[in-house]
Amino acid sequence: TNFSGKVAIVTGAAQGIGAAAVKAFAEVGVDLVITDISDSVKNLAKQISTEYKVNVEALVADISKPETAIELSNIALDKFGRLDFAFNNAGIGGKPAHVKDLDNEQWLNVININLNSVFYCIKAQVPLMTKSGGGVIINNSSVCGLRPIDGSSIEYTAAKHAVVGLTKQVAVNHGAEGIRCNAICPGFITTPLTEDQDTDWFLARIPQKRLGTADDIGKMVRSLCSDDSSYVNGVALQVDGGYLQT
Ligand code: NAD
Repeated sequence: TNFSGKVAIVTGAAQGIGAAAVKAFAEVGVDLVITDISDSVKNLAKQISTEYKVNVEALVADISKPETAIELSNIALDKFGRLDFAFNNAGIGGKPAHVKDLDNEQWLNVININLNSVFYCIKAQVPLMTKSGGGVIINNSSVCGLRPIDGSSIEYTAAKHAVVGLTKQVAVNHGAEGIRCNAICPGFITTPLTEDQDTDWFLARIPQKRLGTADDIGKMVRSLCSDDSSYVNGVALQVDGGYLQT
């Protein structure tokens, strides 16, 4: 695949899986529009553009606001004139609780950040990709988007399942426009998000006997965007060391 001259949007890019995807795209010469609610995304943009000699635009914004999605696509159009790839990755963890103790505010916040943002992004990305001759959208779900974990967070699992449904319907409706839309379902990946979690519980259930790295996911995202994946559309791809088979 010749990635040079291509343009990608990455959300939740400041750290963890998002930052690893930014690096994976930059390594092959993709120009980027990256965004995060954290200001540090600006430093990452400078660092990546210097290190890999690609153009990187950074936007500090809340991805749960529809305006952010529109602004991201506008930046891609104004600065680069096109959009080829999008990794809709931004997300937060939930709070495991009995359903009677799950605040409506908590529910809505996780649904807004982990699900609604993906819809807003897709809505702003598809028309620009269609104009660019097609494109690839990757949405970050989770193994929790395919199977719940006993005692885990209801709002997180609900949002991640919905991301899979959203992905599949967009894949079906927009395949004819040259858009491929897939979800990635990471298992347990070592990032700031999972710092406090019980790694032993996962390790005991992962056939590969190691936790995932952010690069495991970043490289898979790039690979799904490459022409090697040109007939992959509407999948929810498990990248979990075999966890979901156990
Ligand atoms: P992370 O916390 O390291 O990174 C998430 C990024 O999203 C952060 O930089 C954060 O500032 C940003 N973000 C959060 N809320 C935002 C908002 N409202 N607007 C804009 N940016 C916002 O987490 P991560 O582990 O890299 O997770 C990235 C994605 O991968 C999430 O969607 C997460 O659910 C998913 N995921 C992670 C794992 C894992 O084990 N780490 C497993 C499955 C799925």
